[in-house]
Amino acid sequence: MADKRDYYEVLGVQKGASDDELKKAYRKLARKYHPDLNKDNPEAADKFKEVNEAYEVLSDKEKRAKYDQFGFAGVDPSYGGGAGAGGFGGGFDMGDLGDLFGSFFGGGFGGGRSSRRNAPQRGESIRQTVILSFEEAAFGCEKEITVERIESCDDCGGTGAAKGTTAETCPNCRGTGVVTQTQRTPLGMFQTQGACPNCRGTGKIIKKPCPKCGGQGRVRKTRKFKVNIPAGIDDGQSIQQRGQGNAGVNGGPAGDLFVTVAIRPHPIFTRNGPDVHVDIPISFAQAALGDTLQVPTIDGRIEYKIPEGTQTGTTFRMRGKGIQNVNGRGRGDQYVRVNIEVPKNLSDKQKKLLREFEETSTDENQVKRKSFWDKVKDALKDK
Ligand SMILES: [Zn+2]
Ligand SMILES: [Zn+2]
Repeated sequence: MADKRDYYEVLGVQKGASDDELKKAYRKLARKYHPDLNKDNPEAADKFKEVNEAYEVLSDKEKRAKYDQFGFAGVDPSYGGGAGAGGFGGGFDMGDLGDLFGSFFGGGFGGGRSSRRNAPQRGESIRQTVILSFEEAAFGCEKEITVERIESCDDCGGTGAAKGTTAETCPNCRGTGVVTQTQRTPLGMFQTQGACPNCRGTGKIIKKPCPKCGGQGRVRKTRKFKVNIPAGIDDGQSIQQRGQGNAGVNGGPAGDLFVTVAIRPHPIFTRNGPDVHVDIPISFAQAALGDTLQVPTIDGRIEYKIPEGTQTGTTFRMRGKGIQNVNGRGRGDQYVRVNIEVPKNLSDKQKKLLREFEETSTDENQVKRKSFWDKVKDALKDK
């Protein structure tokens, strides 16, 4: 559907082409691509179908006018609009020829939507984003959000008819919203179905439209909602609120509301699913001697012992100190990475102490340094 060619282009005529020109162009192309004459060319069937569809629309004054004004959406109810438009189908290998050949098969093509334009239709779903802090997402919260949606009009109960009046069944289509037309084409007689022009496919005639909704039966409204955000929800996840989307049409159910979560970054924590990560700078002395750190977690500070000789970049895992899984089962872990901060701005006394320390250092203290220079010696073959 998406890459449909313009009908005029398909027939190779100008937009203002006369009926005669259309017919001539159609006959030429129909003969050229007729499947019986193109048994070895599988593309021909598609071309044939395309040509027929184009002619079917352009040879019909009403359809042509609609097509000129609205494009494909004006002539094909399943184009671009209706949700779940399955098009035609069902065992007929020419597929989209449904409109043209529908009469051969008792007109049963396309299912409810295309044959009954006033059938109940579900309202569209709508989306809204809610911004949460790291903690709100971790622990869950209640958030108020504002959405703009289409609701059934209160004044007329969604009928579109002014108070005290009712919508009448359209006599032209007997309430079905569809009229069937028999059409003569160079291939024979065909029945085509289109929206009833009398009621514009609604099946109803509203003599006195409801002043509030102008006869539409639906109005745009701004609503505030409280949404419960479950603990553990992650960035980009959505909460579905059934039936809180746009109102349906012709008594169809309302669509849903999807609230998508965006989580603001935290100054110290980052998150990977239910796991929390934190980087902690420590001093060279803390790393060498070991220490007890006051590690920040989402539950507050927790004492954590790092051992003597902790290397920079070491990550420690604190089991079960992460975020609750959004499904309610268990908690993630917290990962603590320590990084040694080399001291700067040393006083004279500190420098003196460090020099003394360095002089007393042995290969046992700096195993990596020793082994690296041993390798250098071997590699460069110097003594
Ligand atoms: Zn109304
Ligand atoms: Zn009608």
